[in-house]
Amino acid sequence: MHPVTDWLAVRARLTPSKIAVVEVSSGIRLTYEQFNERVNRLAGYLQRSGVSKGDRIALLSPNSIRYLELLFAAGKIGAMFVPLNGRFSIPELAYVVNDCKPRILVYTDSYQSAVSGLTSHTEIPILLNESGYQSVLTESTEINRFVPLEMEDPWAIIYTGGTTGYPKGVILSHRAITWNAINTMVSWGITENDVTPVYLPMFHTGGLNALTTPVLYAGGTVVIGKEFNASSIIRVVETERCTIALFVPTMYHMLIQAPEFAEAAFSSMHTFLSGGAPCPSSIYEAFRTKGLNFKEGYGLTEAGPNNFYIHPQDAKRKIGSVGVPMFHTDIRLVDSNGNDVSDEETGEIWIAGPHLFSGYWNKPQATVETLVGGWLRTGDLGRRDEEGYYYITGRKKEMIITGGENVYPLEVEHVLESHPDINEVAVVGLPDPKWGEVVTAVLVTVKHKRISGEELKTYCAGKLAGYKIPKLFLFVDELPKTSVGKIDKKRIIGQYSKIG
Ligand code: AMP
Repeated sequence: MHPVTDWLAVRARLTPSKIAVVEVSSGIRLTYEQFNERVNRLAGYLQRSGVSKGDRIALLSPNSIRYLELLFAAGKIGAMFVPLNGRFSIPELAYVVNDCKPRILVYTDSYQSAVSGLTSHTEIPILLNESGYQSVLTESTEINRFVPLEMEDPWAIIYTGGTTGYPKGVILSHRAITWNAINTMVSWGITENDVTPVYLPMFHTGGLNALTTPVLYAGGTVVIGKEFNASSIIRVVETERCTIALFVPTMYHMLIQAPEFAEAAFSSMHTFLSGGAPCPSSIYEAFRTKGLNFKEGYGLTEAGPNNFYIHPQDAKRKIGSVGVPMFHTDIRLVDSNGNDVSDEETGEIWIAGPHLFSGYWNKPQATVETLVGGWLRTGDLGRRDEEGYYYITGRKKEMIITGGENVYPLEVEHVLESHPDINEVAVVGLPDPKWGEVVTAVLVTVKHKRISGEELKTYCAGKLAGYKIPKLFLFVDELPKTSVGKIDKKRIIGQYSKIG
């Protein structure tokens, strides 16, 4: 195998008896040697079945070892791994399958009916079900043909953006995945002693390669959980002696509300990371008052996904900052004319580095609009302080224009979240004949406590300029979330624009 790309084989040689992967639901624990052997069998089976370089291998499964086995098996034979979002409807899945045209679809029993629905819309040459997959793992076929690989060869396609139009397939090469692992490992101080629980969905970059592949690259241990349940995660973190975890803010909300949170010491944990969406300060506080190290990260699928870091040895712990650019990563903050902004000003985040994606699958126009001259235009907004630390300040397309003034929802959300009776909030612009857009706060209160819009306006006065204070307050039981747990603003706007 190619020594640069097949780093799993290297790990299996260096630390054969170290535990690589644990699957909580089945109790399976695999050493690096066992894990590499299973991956080789799988790769051998795929070759025998006619899967060759450049083919796509799709998976429909809850979080499980299969994600990592198929990722590495695809990598060894030059194929592309395509994890499918199991929460998609049949038409959404059919769109993705028709777009990437996998040669093989591996699925678990729980997806049997989805697969039956899919096959009436799409053509997939090989279907491999649960029992077929298990028998492949016990057969003793090994890879029989050496496939020459380059670092630029694609290794995975991860679909994103389902809530903002048709999903787009982000192509990640061996270069991108390997460099994300290297950059993350060096910048975040990850070593072979690290153990990470994976509860973010593994069809998403957050579960697949934000911490998972870097920890495997370092020779650490990945503990895979099937679904997010705050109480059982607290138990798993304690029993598996986890050291570093990444969750989205919604998951942190659930964790701090779990009855076990107050008692849990998390003595093995050196870092809790939040990413994927803005993190309210109440979550930081809940961890810091327990003396735990809590940090915010910023990433996106197209950047493989990590970009910033706060090193464990960095004495400066700036609340709300995502830190400084990762090793081997360049960041620019750019205004609407393409000029770099000064410190403390807001600009669009542009990223360059060896961890970036290669382009969107089958979407050359979207690729040239997003990846320009080696820079990834993220569409996200950020600010840098005079010491070089970065802050995420919102999304370009979420900016509200009300009466000709620009309002960044994140700033308003931070103020409202600091109110003791507010649990969650989304600030959006709803169409309005007078204002163009009217700043609207959609809120969930603590224990459904009743507060009036007038009270909240008074609370915001003095903290925000008048034009930024929401004119409309809508109280709801729950905010709609995407399949990875982010607040789904597109759905909120769709729902309340119709009413308005
Ligand atoms: P995805 O590619 O699905 O992971 O989505 C990436 C997007 O999530 C980014 O473009 C940001 O808009 C958002 N995001 C990620 N991390 C953060 C963060 N720390 N704060 C605010 N937004 C974030």
